Amino acid sequence: MNYETVIGLEVHVQIKTRTKMFCGCATEFGAEPNTRVCPVCLGYPGVLPVMNEEAVRKTILAGLMLGCTINRFSKWDRKNYFYPDMPKNYQISQYDLPLCTGGAVGQFRLTRIHLEEDVAKSFHFERTSGVDFNRAGTPLMEIVSEPDLRSPEDAFQYLTTLKEILIAGDISDCDMEKGQLRCDANVSVRPVGQTQLGEKVELKNMNTISGVRRALGYEEQRQIAALERGGKITQETRRWDELAGKTFVMRTKEYAHDYRYFSEPDLMPVIVSDAFLAEIQRGIKELPEARRRRLVEQYGLPEYDAGVLVADTAVADYFEQAAAGSKNPKAISNWIMTELLPKFAENKISPAHLAELVAAIEAGRISGKQGKEVFAEMFATGQSPSAIIKARGLAQVSDAAVVEALCVQAIKANPKSVADYQAGNTAAINFLKGQVMKLSQGKANPQLAGEILARLLGGH
Ligand code: ADP
Ligand code: MG
Ligand code: ZN
Repeated sequence: MNYETVIGLEVHVQIKTRTKMFCGCATEFGAEPNTRVCPVCLGYPGVLPVMNEEAVRKTILAGLMLGCTINRFSKWDRKNYFYPDMPKNYQISQYDLPLCTGGAVGQFRLTRIHLEEDVAKSFHFERTSGVDFNRAGTPLMEIVSEPDLRSPEDAFQYLTTLKEILIAGDISDCDMEKGQLRCDANVSVRPVGQTQLGEKVELKNMNTISGVRRALGYEEQRQIAALERGGKITQETRRWDELAGKTFVMRTKEYAHDYRYFSEPDLMPVIVSDAFLAEIQRGIKELPEARRRRLVEQYGLPEYDAGVLVADTAVADYFEQAAAGSKNPKAISNWIMTELLPKFAENKISPAHLAELVAAIEAGRISGKQGKEVFAEMFATGQSPSAIIKARGLAQVSDAAVVEALCVQAIKANPKSVADYQAGNTAAINFLKGQVMKLSQGKANPQLAGEILARLLGGH
């Protein structure tokens, strides 16, 4: 029998804010365990949560960038459960009235985006376990898709696009290794032609986007094989083991009513005013897909370049600032891609200086080779190219009379090459050009030298 795979993703994203969702503790990653905590995020009784407006703002921004409906009235709910990473035994989340509904990632529809608080992180050692509450209370967005995806590859595409959009909006850094983006993947299979969805399995513990793709690839085959053997799929949660390349049963699935959701009595509902929404709308960033197209059209870049630059918003911004004042955006892109990208964080070169360097090479004031030298010094010191060219006495000689005198000298000193050239060995001119460069200590404009030599030697 032929089977169709159906996938829906639940993605948790830590929102980039200075402080936590309901208290003033810092959200930074990697601090000494349990040093960014207070009675609110430790779950003491009798404390009052205070909503973080920045987290609401960024969730709405994400909703707008993904084409969601922003609900003007949403509220907070308690999701009750017992777990060592949540000592107050409930998580503040949004249940029936989330901030955003609808929307899409590419062609895959979204169900909703709601806001909640992250829980603490448990560590398991040989004989003991530890809990770090620094993460507890970090603003967390849950983005839920419709069961619209049909293959592991769709999931890969979905996550790649979603991540790009969230980074472009400065909503999250989405570093999966730091747990800033975590994906639970729901997957079922059904005979082709069947409209009813199959029983689904939820996969957890994938640490990379390609890990999600691999886990789904394994799981769809496992489910198909089980059905082919006449077995049944039971709703359960399975853990992906990256090393084994397999999924293992973790637990059978809780149902929503097990959480005994009820409205959070300590927080007011969230009312999104026209003015608040308009302000967020003004801060909306261009989507990466649109930006790639614009870079191709506006600057005449190849698609490849546009893709590389847009992959990092800061790099694309840098390119646009440099290209704004340049006649040769492609040259700017080349410098960025080949020289700057591997060490972009250490870059001291201002976009205007890079444009100036490209212009100096373009105008023949310095050679391409000298350009590399100047670039290296610009990178190390942040100085302007003109200051470096001056200080190093690098300027290229483009004065035709001076170059011609050197050409004459080279011709006189190398009668054999001249004879070769005139006998039809056109490559001999390169040797003469090399002599001119040598005589000028590398400063002659090589293109000009070539032209003058050809003229002096006549023909060809
Ligand atoms: P639960 O209540 O078990 O969390 P939801 O209805 O909230 O289930 O759906 C969770 C995610 O699973 C959503 O992304 C949804 O699109 C997806 N999903 C639901 N049913 C299926 C199914 N039969 N096969 C694959 N994905 C599904
Ligand atoms: Mg769910
Ligand atoms: Zn706190």
